Amino acid sequence: MAAVRGRVLSTTTKRAFDKMATARKITVDRRFDGMPKESDFKVVEEQLPPLKDGEFLAEAVYLSVDPYMRAYAHNIPLGATMVGTQVARVVDSKNGKYPVGQHVVGKFDWRSHTISGGLPSIVQGAGNAPAPYLAPDLKGLPLSYLLGILGMPGSTAYFGFLEICKPQPGEVVVVSGAAGAVGSIVGQIAKIKGCKAFGITGSDDKGRYLVEQLGFDGFANYKKGDLDKTLGQLIPEGVDCYFDNVAGEISSTVIKHMNDFGRISVCGSISSYNHDVNNPPKVTVVQGYMLMKQLVMEGFQNYLYQDRASEAFQQILQWLLEGKMKYSETVTEGFDNMVRAFIEMLGGKNLGKAIVKV
Ligand code: NAP
Repeated sequence: MAAVRGRVLSTTTKRAFDKMATARKITVDRRFDGMPKESDFKVVEEQLPPLKDGEFLAEAVYLSVDPYMRAYAHNIPLGATMVGTQVARVVDSKNGKYPVGQHVVGKFDWRSHTISGGLPSIVQGAGNAPAPYLAPDLKGLPLSYLLGILGMPGSTAYFGFLEICKPQPGEVVVVSGAAGAVGSIVGQIAKIKGCKAFGITGSDDKGRYLVEQLGFDGFANYKKGDLDKTLGQLIPEGVDCYFDNVAGEISSTVIKHMNDFGRISVCGSISSYNHDVNNPPKVTVVQGYMLMKQLVMEGFQNYLYQDRASEAFQQILQWLLEGKMKYSETVTEGFDNMVRAFIEMLGGKNLGKAIVKV
């Protein structure tokens, strides 16, 4: 036992307190030029102040690395901590809503330890962050799923696909970025809704995973051969719904293969994220196809559906528990490997959701 700040702590609590004295955080040290590099970041140690009433201390357990972090990077002031969400354990608390030992999901950025007041906040360069929430009962599924299929990427796939593509049984769905966090969920929802699902991805191994493990009807490897020809052979009946995670030439090619009155949900534009925002890549014009086939294309941001997030959570949890959906994660060990995990995800090394486990 030891006395700290006038309180007597058990050995376990003291250990937690000792850890809390110093937090590690990863800051953006240099503007990214193309693919981010390890040298663009800095690991900084920070002494944390004592907790005030209403605050709690959270220790990171799982951290998410996501493509949006690259897309928003030009908005993050140099020297600021990289943005991001984590699953963390409450290790000290002066807030009854966040008891010690509970897990929370919070926008705590790339930090090992965070003091939070449990309130919504503004994330530098990345908009509003909702208040941290206590991890719900996942019925034995991994806590890290709260950063993927049972978190933001899950609700993005669920609402972005169902609300915008409005898929009908028997229709043909194509999803790009298909073997990643969002794409792998979209294809499986398409199958549950009675559609045919085809994925576009950057490797044959990932494509085989989509077909053999997730039940997709086929895949195209955009890095191999002529995508236009491949799609023509793979999907001669044409495409009714396109869930677009990547944009660029891949998407122009898919749009060429769409049927009349097709729907396109624009979720992401990862093929352009490593380019200068003021000088994005030039690609084949699609307006001719959109006009002739009377297509509808709609972009969305997942926060639009924030108020309905529990609907996606409940439905996807049920599908997972019923064995109707599967999910993969690519887990990198160690907080100090955040940057490597981020760069590898942007380079396509991940299958399913890219996660860092502390
Ligand atoms: P992810 O798919 O798990 O990981 C990124 C994947 O993108 C990589 O594994 C890689 O797979 C692929 N990729 C990388 N560079 C590419 C390129 N130049 N062309 C084509 N594919 C490329 O990431 P995620 O979290 O599921 O996100 C997918 C997309 O959704 C991203 O664009 C993201 O910004 C967007 N998103 C949007 C919202 C929203 O609110 N609208 C929310 C979440 C995510 P391959 O090996 O197959 O190339």
